[in-house]
Amino acid sequence: MAQPKALMNIAPRPAQVFVRGEGHYLWDSDGRRYLDMIQGWAVNCLGHSPPVITEALARQADQLITPSPAFFNQPSIELANALTAASCFDQVFFASSGAEANEGAIKLARKFGALHRGGAYEIITFQGGFHGRTLATMSASGKPAFAKLYEPKVSGFQKAVLNDIDSVTRLLDEQTVAVMLEPVQGEAGVVVADDDFLRALREITREAGVLLIVDEIQTGVGRCGKLFGYQHTDIRPDIMTLGKGIGGGVPLAALLATDAVSCFEYGDQGGTYCGNPLMTAVGSAVLKTVNTLEFLNQVERMGAALTAQLTDLSKRFGLGSVRGRGLLLALDTGAIDSTTIADRAMDEGLLVNAPRPDTLRFMPALTLGEDQIEEAVSGLSAALNSL
Ligand SMILES: *Cc1c(COP(=O)(O)O)cnc(C)c1O
Repeated sequence: MAQPKALMNIAPRPAQVFVRGEGHYLWDSDGRRYLDMIQGWAVNCLGHSPPVITEALARQADQLITPSPAFFNQPSIELANALTAASCFDQVFFASSGAEANEGAIKLARKFGALHRGGAYEIITFQGGFHGRTLATMSASGKPAFAKLYEPKVSGFQKAVLNDIDSVTRLLDEQTVAVMLEPVQGEAGVVVADDDFLRALREITREAGVLLIVDEIQTGVGRCGKLFGYQHTDIRPDIMTLGKGIGGGVPLAALLATDAVSCFEYGDQGGTYCGNPLMTAVGSAVLKTVNTLEFLNQVERMGAALTAQLTDLSKRFGLGSVRGRGLLLALDTGAIDSTTIADRAMDEGLLVNAPRPDTLRFMPALTLGEDQIEEAVSGLSAALNSL
């Protein structure tokens, strides 16, 4: 299909129109099936339309869709309890998108700075980082394509270099209130923050009385093989944001903080859809499914299996290394343009993402099995052979 006139043309999109999804597969309007290793951008952690989600939606839609953000509702209390029990955080604010959760994190840090750090408001973020598409979260991001967009930027974000602790120390001063990062930079092409770097960050931020914020919108909810990415180390951040996987495909995000940091007062934060029962009921169903040792161990096993198969494929075609954690993986395609490979893969019935000209990214459903790994690798082989 050509670009539909009534939709703003904001990205190059393939001609197919997708009409149905089930588990690891998507179907277009011609009835063609695709193995989906994108899954709504690491969103559908249980695959397309899994019964746990469709049933939770149907049950809750029948019961209560939204009372008002000014009233309590049971599903949001339940999900907040489950998230705080499963993490080092004590309190939760729900939002509808990752960017909105990150805006909340930035506001909370600034409020903390106003109350406890003499008005400090600067947040150190990282080159290559991605935190969303609102004005503040674009300003916090270190994505080169954002650098000249929508000037003037929201001020107060200084960019350090990931895995370079000295670059952070150099920027830390009395104006700094927080350091904010993704445990694995997703949009930058799957760049892992080293465990030692995270530990060092926690140490210097604690010493300076500065908050540590982890943006786990992509890495959270089992994606990297632990429930949350920060749990690969023994650190305890002050603030965490979730999005994508927590909703399993519906718009749900969350801002979590420790008691010591949860300093919003009446009127400081809110939103019409924040904590609505329809979405938080889904969040609870997703979390219950993902947060078992058996499920998370299986993510690690499948991550290792996909890594091994991609490494083997890379050797056969003379490509680069495989990097990432759990089921957030990238393959370095070297001199071969990754967008061309992704386009050919689509012709072969395989959906993969090319976040950078030399990188293919894999973010399949966490329920991935050996069969899908084999199918993905054979689709990629066919795509590479056709070049
Ligand atoms: C996707 C993403 C966001 C933005 O989430 P939206 O729901 O698109 O607003 C923020 N941070 C990270 C790390 C992401 O991957």
